Amino acid sequence: MRHRFVADRMLGKLSRKLRLLGIDTRYERYYSPAEVLKTAEMESLTLLTRHRELHAKALRRGVESFLLKSNDWRGQLKAVVMRFDIRSTDIKPFTRCADCNALLTRRSPDEVILLVPQYVLFTHNHFLQCPACGKVYWKGTHPDRILQTFSGIIPLNGD
Ligand SMILES: [Zn+2]
Repeated sequence: MRHRFVADRMLGKLSRKLRLLGIDTRYERYYSPAEVLKTAEMESLTLLTRHRELHAKALRRGVESFLLKSNDWRGQLKAVVMRFDIRSTDIKPFTRCADCNALLTRRSPDEVILLVPQYVLFTHNHFLQCPACGKVYWKGTHPDRILQTFSGIIPLNGD
């Protein structure tokens, strides 16, 4: 993935969706606009924002910024996908924690025995865990739902 993002406070849902697609997206609920801009500047991230003033300020400082006009995450995600030409080959669903953006680590069933419901343990062999918050993900539930959610938003190969 070529693009790495930092999103402003108003874009919590969009940030979670981008992370679920494996796209590096910094977002902290407590970040002020100034902190968001500083993060973009220091770490060379592309700013995603709903604030016209913050967007203008970023551009003046030479920070790449994209102003989102839509109010809902679907419209926002569509706009990001189009603007940055994100394709299905760019996305890696379930490689990144939706809550904290950390890259997930593979875990065996034994390693998550106390962390997931028993029926999940009996029916799945592959687990992923966030090293930052400890949240456990497994295939079969989330990825299918995710890909369904995003169909129609992410262009398929060859489109
Ligand atoms: Zn996490």
